[in-house]
Amino acid sequence: MGISLMEHDVIVTGAGPAGSVTAALVAQAGFYVLVLEKNTSCKSPCAGYISNNINLEIPDDSVVQSRITKMRTYFPDLSFHDFELNGFVVDRSSFDMLLAGKAIEEGASIRWGSPLQEIVPGGVKFRNGMAHGKIIVGADGVFSKTASLLGFERQKFAVCAQYHLKGIKPLSQTCEIFFSQEFAPGGYVWIYPTGKDSAKVGVGVTHGYPRAYLEKFISESSLSERLNGIRIEYIAGALPIGGLREKLCCGNVLLAGDSAGMADPVTGAGINNAMLAGEIAGKSIIKALESNDMEILSEDETKIRRLLGKPFARALEKRKMLDVCYASNELLQENLPELWMTFRQYWEI
Ligand SMILES: Cc1cc2nc3c(=O)[nH]c(=O)nc-3n(C[C@H](O)[C@H](O)[C@H](O)COP(=O)(O)OP(=O)(O)OC[C@H]3O[C@@H](n4cnc5c(N)ncnc54)[C@H](O)[C@@H]3O)c2cc1C
Repeated sequence: MGISLMEHDVIVTGAGPAGSVTAALVAQAGFYVLVLEKNTSCKSPCAGYISNNINLEIPDDSVVQSRITKMRTYFPDLSFHDFELNGFVVDRSSFDMLLAGKAIEEGASIRWGSPLQEIVPGGVKFRNGMAHGKIIVGADGVFSKTASLLGFERQKFAVCAQYHLKGIKPLSQTCEIFFSQEFAPGGYVWIYPTGKDSAKVGVGVTHGYPRAYLEKFISESSLSERLNGIRIEYIAGALPIGGLREKLCCGNVLLAGDSAGMADPVTGAGINNAMLAGEIAGKSIIKALESNDMEILSEDETKIRRLLGKPFARALEKRKMLDVCYASNELLQENLPELWMTFRQYWEI
């Protein structure tokens, strides 16, 4: 395929939640938006828990796998703590395709199978093409190519592995979280129901091979009997745990979502923040384009820091403590209430 040169107001790299929300908003305001997506469809590896404060109507069961009303957090000795939580478990690919579809409906173009390769004066080069754009949004995830082209270092990250299991016994409407040094060093195990007899069971760790820990949890933990089922899908991925990057805006380039470090450093949850980032980036971009003043783009960073600065500073402190407590199950057992956000103590210190 030859090189094609295209003119756009905004080029977004990555059709995840951050990229698609940005693209939809800016296209809706009448600007030309091109989204470059590395893959041929949306397939970010994920457990898909979303809290229901998102600004989106979740339409049907092809996206929602279960509704959640509770989180049960297990200590290493398997005693547990319940917390009321309202959200959904979604099928991530369908959810992301839905957001991408909305961006297209608003007039954005998405080029699938087109990874960003270079940022050049006035635009970008991607596989088999080139595009001009006044503004670039790097929404290309934890190992953001956009950020690395800007000279940013690789972020601190956790690695995850997950099976979708069928024929098992999940708890209805409940997200289960397990802390244990031998099964999830530096992170936790999750069981998120997707139906009466199915769930996504995964583990995130800060070191080691996550699939090995997951296998061990499924076959050797006290919950093994409940998880003895058929594996219908395996996924692996990574998420940032180092907090917000030092800079989120460089000239005419903005970073949004995981590429900017917007997943929570303790829980790893990043979908809601990625969508929030898309909304804030979108609004700053519209203002900048309408007034033809790229300086306005820096408002994005100010707003993000105002909203996420404090909670992330707290979470980073907790992250440090959690890393220390993973020295033993005794330390974890004793300190978990200060380290996990469903406990009152998390918010007190
Ligand atoms: C196993 C796992 C489980 C998780 N579970 C949850 C959960 O239950 N709840 C939650 O809130 N968060 C969860 N997360 C975190 C969540 O997935 C991310 O925080 C969220 O996806 C961030 O959205 P994003 O739009 O910033 O990036 P992404 O969703 O990662 O999207 C980035 C997009 O950019 C594309 N891309 C990458 N490189 C390029 C390139 N060079 N050019 C063009 N496109 C590119 C990718 O293909 C991808 O489509 C989980 C993460 C993992 C790994």
